Parts: sequence; C-alpha cells; structure tokens
Amino acid sequence: MAGTHEGGALHSPGYGSVAIVPGWLRAPGDVNDLLPQLWAATVGRHRDGALRVGGVDVRELAAAHGTPAYVLDEADFRGRATAFRDAFSGAFADLCGGADVYYAAKTFLCTGVVRWLAEDGLNLDVASGGELATGLRGAMPAARMVLHGNNKSRAELRAALAAGVGRIVLDNLAEVDVVADLARELGTTAPVMIRVTVGVEAHTHSYIATAHEDQKFGLSLASGRAEAAAAAVLARPELRLLGFHSHIGSQIFDTAGFEVAARRLLGLTARVRREQGAELPEIDLGGGFGIAYTSEHDPLAPADLAGHLAAIVERECRAEGIECPRVSVEPGRAIAGPSTFTLYEVGATKDVELDGGARRRYVSVDGGMSDNIRTALYDADYSATIASRRSAAEPVLSRVVGKHCESGDVVVRDEFLPSDLGAGDLLAVPGTGAYCRSMASNYNHVPRPPVVAVRDGVARVLVRRETVEDLLALDVG
Ligand SMILES: *Cc1c(COP(=O)(O)O)cnc(C)c1O
Repeated sequence: MAGTHEGGALHSPGYGSVAIVPGWLRAPGDVNDLLPQLWAATVGRHRDGALRVGGVDVRELAAAHGTPAYVLDEADFRGRATAFRDAFSGAFADLCGGADVYYAAKTFLCTGVVRWLAEDGLNLDVASGGELATGLRGAMPAARMVLHGNNKSRAELRAALAAGVGRIVLDNLAEVDVVADLARELGTTAPVMIRVTVGVEAHTHSYIATAHEDQKFGLSLASGRAEAAAAAVLARPELRLLGFHSHIGSQIFDTAGFEVAARRLLGLTARVRREQGAELPEIDLGGGFGIAYTSEHDPLAPADLAGHLAAIVERECRAEGIECPRVSVEPGRAIAGPSTFTLYEVGATKDVELDGGARRRYVSVDGGMSDNIRTALYDADYSATIASRRSAAEPVLSRVVGKHCESGDVVVRDEFLPSDLGAGDLLAVPGTGAYCRSMASNYNHVPRPPVVAVRDGVARVLVRRETVEDLLALDVG
C-alpha cells in the first residue's frame, strides 16, 4: 500500500519503488524527467532546463508572485472538469434519468474556480456557509448547488434555503424537522436527499464492506435509520425527497466499492417505493475518485469510470425492477488535484546517515505543513523535481521538509533530487491542487501562499498571498 515502508523497500514517489541496499541506492536514470501522469497538462521542462506551465516560465512566476505559491494550470483544471461532465452525460445519455457532476468545493474553492464550473456546466457541492457564500459570490446558480454536512447550523440551513439551493443532504433524523420547520418559515419547499452509510468504506486499493458503520456521517442502512428518515421526510409536506446519497471514501481506483454502494442505495430506493409508496427520482454516489500522486497510482479515466457506473446502476435497477433514477457524482480531487503544483524555494540542506550506511538529505523549503498538511496528516505520498534549471549532478535520496517548528513537517518523504540542489533553487511538488490550499493553516504565523492560475502565457492571481498585516488584522486584543 502507498505510504508504507516495508521490508527495507523505500518508496520513491517520482520514480517507483527503489530497494535500499546498505551503502548502495538504485537511483533514477534522469532526475530531470517528469512523469506525465503526475503533472498538469501544460507543464513541461523547457530546453533551457526550467519548468514551464501554460507557456510561463516558473522563474518568472516566482519573481512576480513569490514563493511558496500554488500554480494552477487553468486548461488542465477545466479540461478535467469538462471530461467528467462529458463522460457522465455521455454514459447516461439514454440511460436512467441522465447524470450530473457536482464538484466538491472543499477540495479547493475560490470564486474564480466557481465561475469556470458555472460556465462549463458543472454543479457545486458545498459543506458550510462559507463554501455556500463563495459559490453564490462566484455566480453559481443556487439551484445547481447541494449542501452537505453532519452538523449544519440553522444559519447555514436558512442561508441555503433562502438562496434556493437545489438540494440539502440530510445527515441525521433531527435535521428532518429542523429543515422542514425552516422551509415552512421561509414559505418554501426544500428538496432533500438522505445520506446513507451503506457499510462500504473504500480507500485506495481496498474496500471493506461491514455490517455496522463506526463513523460520524449519515444514517445507517443496516440499522433501519435510513428508511426511518425517509418515512420522516415523506411525512413533512415542506420537504421533497429526491433520493439517497452515499460517499464511500477517497483515493479509490476501481468501481467495486461503488458497485456495492449502488446496489444498496437502489435496494433501499426499491424498498421505499414498495413499502412507503414513494417514487424517488435520483441517487448520488458521491466522490472519491483517485489520482496519481506517485508512479504506483493508476486512476481510471472519467469515461471508463462513467461507463462502469452506468452499467452497474442499470443492472441493479433491472434486478430491483425499478425505474433507473438520475445519477449524480461528486468528484473533487480528480478535478483539482493534478491541476496544481506548489512552487517552493530551497533554503538549508543537511545530510544524515541512515542505518546500514545509506544517506538521506534534508532539503528545507520556504513553506511546509502550513501549505500541505496531507503528508503529516495522512502519510500521503508526493514527488518533487528541481524546477528552475536542469541538473546533471548525481541524484541523492532526499526528504523535502518545511520551515515549521515540528519534526513531522514533511512535504515529500522520499525523492531523488540532484546533489547540487541548494539555496535559491526552485522546487516543484505536483498534485497539490486538492486539500492543500483548502486545508492550509497559519501555523507559526506563516501567511498562506497565493493561488496563481496560468493559461496561454498569462498568469492571474486567483487568491492573493496572505500578509502579516492580514494576520495582525484579526488580532484585536
Ligand atoms: C469529500 C467529499 C467529496 C469529494 O471527495 P474526493 O475524494 O475529493 O473526490 C464528495 N462528496 C462528499 C460528500 C464528500 O464529503
């Protein structure tokens, strides 16, 4: 499994698995090579050795916008978004009630991205009042938004209903009456779905189907709570039940888990029809589609994913003898993740001896866990490459670390980087478009980096760099 170091095998993200033999390391052939599946579509190394993205040299980006910076390839982001849209509308064209793609806002959100999604025909999944407000500010029609959350406040629910969101996903029984009462107060009807814990938890290459669900989200299928919630919703005229929702995990590379989830959701849909007489027009299968952070990961293309899911849903509906409902999915990482790399400047370096005589070099960059918490939080794998020039120096096993007061402040655990990498060089870490800026913190009172979108030779700041003045502005004491 990715992220583990077993039996002396060291996982080197950019270059596959490298066995460590004491005193000897098998290093990659050329540390300047880019693995295309890890990078946004327009990234390449120019003849002069520096990386370019969207026709812009990273050295120019660093000079104009500083480091660290998240550099987002607009064509790549929009290309992945529209690939999902087209794959699902294609696969479900003559099937079920069609399909909708909701981009999961928590992955990375700003008004610029919302405008692209609105223009490109995608919908938006939000999970807080802040995400809802950003969606509205970016002119996403409220009817194309869904509100999620296991503990939505009344204020968030009221704002969503007042804006006219297309659906609210109910996460617990108490919420049924809260939303119905608010809808009555506002003189409206609330379209709702019910989040079901289907007993499938999928992560990367494996999934576990269990009978009971030990986690905070949703109403469980096995206990009958999901069915009871449907009855409670149907009893309230202020609510309109669209159907059931599930989200089974993240970084998923096959459709086995979705197959089990779809079967269980559709079984539930059929049961509610039989026993409660309600025809539910939709199901939502959530997100979680994986991306390549390393050479080990092999994601499904959106067209294959959509084709498999369409076949599964159709087959299960036939087996249950129900009309095939409209299907929605909620990709986040698979759209935003590969679109962005983080550009850092290298500072201090230090060499250490490992057991068995191998060496590791610590390469410190000018950011760290404040702009990418995923390595520390999830033991996530990333890769890195020298970005400002080409190097012919021998590769050395390196660990890219940040500037924070925490020894777990690691950005890239293992990577081969050229031995002459040093202060002032630029380093790029790909695959940081998802859950990096959105999870960024101000640890050590480090201001958060900007997000710079690049397209056709032009760089545009989507989110500006935070300043120390911004931080101090909150400090009113
Ligand atoms: C996080 C989340 C998603 C998106 O997950 P990805 O792994 O980024 O695709 C979709 N739906 C729900 C309900 C989520 O919580």
